[in-house]
Amino acid sequence: MIVTVASGKGGTGKTTVAVSLALSLADDVHAPLFLDCDVEEPNAALFFQPAFQERRDVGQMVPQVDFDLCTYCGRCAEVCQFNAIAVVGKKVMVFPELCHACGSCTLNCPVSAISEVPDIIGTMERGRSGAVDFAHGTLNVGEPMAVPIIRELKRWVIPADPGDRPVILDASPGAACPVVETMRGADAVLMVTEPTPFGLHDLRVAVTVARDELRLPVGVVVNRDGVGDSGVDDYCAAEGIPILMKIPLDRRIATAYSDGVPLVAALPDYRDAFRDLYAALQRLVRDGGPSQ
Ligand code: SF4
Ligand code: SF4
Repeated sequence: MIVTVASGKGGTGKTTVAVSLALSLADDVHAPLFLDCDVEEPNAALFFQPAFQERRDVGQMVPQVDFDLCTYCGRCAEVCQFNAIAVVGKKVMVFPELCHACGSCTLNCPVSAISEVPDIIGTMERGRSGAVDFAHGTLNVGEPMAVPIIRELKRWVIPADPGDRPVILDASPGAACPVVETMRGADAVLMVTEPTPFGLHDLRVAVTVARDELRLPVGVVVNRDGVGDSGVDDYCAAEGIPILMKIPLDRRIATAYSDGVPLVAALPDYRDAFRDLYAALQRLVRDGGPSQ
């Protein structure tokens, strides 16, 4: 089962939950696979301390103009929907940070003056941490596009048929394109939120993406239960979204997090609760999401 752990906002404890879920399943027959897809700020490796075995660059093909052939006709700029190539007088300028590698300019150049060259935007690494297979991607500083790295990371690491193996994807916070890409292809989405009006607001947005647009089953974990109000409970009850786990506000959890210690390593009694959480997700998937 592939589970994406997401949250509408940062600071909800999403990575704490994702890491603890993977570690709690690590004793079982099938070694969990953990992907840190928060490629702009990957931090799950701090908890896993994995030994990396493989590293790959991630790039995309961007246009390169042969000025001996170019007639400065402007056709490439006309067909580019992303303003990633401009023709000004006797100059053709390419802006790789805007390019979506669609290949349209290359196809449409009447004199075949455009070739495609790789532009490295980040890296991926995979390795092992105890019984967990770990992988993450890292977007190079200044690069704007996280989605190609997430897509490549999933393609590189997730087997075509994971079978019974738990695959846990830790998404970036929010509900933008990188989160959508991290959710795409998952069997279920686990939303981590906090019981405050801010948590509720961002939960609603993230649920819209996961459940209403991607048609995925959604379960909720309420972290720091006991602070705030009953808004998240009321919303989930009204929407028929199951709250699968509540983690109370506990100073020991916050201290462990700030020390880089996973929740279930600091408080091993939580392992059973996370195994129960995974079983509840399996039932949620089996019973069907909103598309069934
Ligand atoms: S379409 Fe080709 S020939 Fe025309 S400006 Fe662009 S690169 Fe030059
Ligand atoms: S590959 Fe596509 S996005 Fe990139 S410059 Fe060419 S037309 Fe624009």
